[in-house]
Amino acid sequence: MTRPGFVDIIGQLFCHVRLRGYTTSVHQQLRAWSLSWSEVDPGQNAFAWDDDEGDRLAALVAPMAPPAEADRMENFRFMREVTELLTARYGRWACGWDWSIHNGGPVGAWCCDAHSVGEAEETAARVVDCVLEWRDWLEDTAERFERLAPPPGADAEDRSWHLERAATRLVTAVVDRTQAEAGWYGLAETTLAWFLSSTGLGPEDAEKAVDAAIGGRFKSWAAPTPTLLDAVGEALAVSLTGRGSYRER
Ligand SMILES: [Zn+2]
Repeated sequence: MTRPGFVDIIGQLFCHVRLRGYTTSVHQQLRAWSLSWSEVDPGQNAFAWDDDEGDRLAALVAPMAPPAEADRMENFRFMREVTELLTARYGRWACGWDWSIHNGGPVGAWCCDAHSVGEAEETAARVVDCVLEWRDWLEDTAERFERLAPPPGADAEDRSWHLERAATRLVTAVVDRTQAEAGWYGLAETTLAWFLSSTGLGPEDAEKAVDAAIGGRFKSWAAPTPTLLDAVGEALAVSLTGRGSYRER
């Protein structure tokens, strides 16, 4: 599976220098797109949260924030340690807290280290917002999966219709959320693979099917046309069921 567009991001980053440090730090970390659906599914990964827990988390994060004059490596160190804290406290799913819209993810409260790591208390409050936003995105995603899953006992043609409809709706939801920013298709690929896993397909087969159906046709900073969306949905459905669907979505 193509990972969110690090190469694409480089092109965009006239205001984000020293990308090498960023990509290095990203690759060393646990990242959401490398997790399976069972590791992120809110139905299988409980999250006990209330205002007190928000205060406790902020109080833990604030002292970890780098001093004002810190360089970017310090920012990356901070973000890595926040990820470690969150995954130890809540589970591996929480590593997606900084998958920002700026990097093709669903989280709007974070941008990048340079713009989002600042004064300690403010940064800690931002981290809390990010965790909740990421969790909300996963919960919305799980609800979509349930709504869009082929019903048990559907025949091949009916299954094909459901899979095609699911693919186009899920990708549309990702495009809406990411504004088709740099590397948005990484979230689209991940979401489709998670969806197929949620319907019982093995994670590797799911990834392969999604890669083949998209065929590299989704690009950064370009929302897919309706024609392309339909083509990807149909390719996915046909590859998994051996059948086209002959009714309108
Ligand atoms: Zn930024």
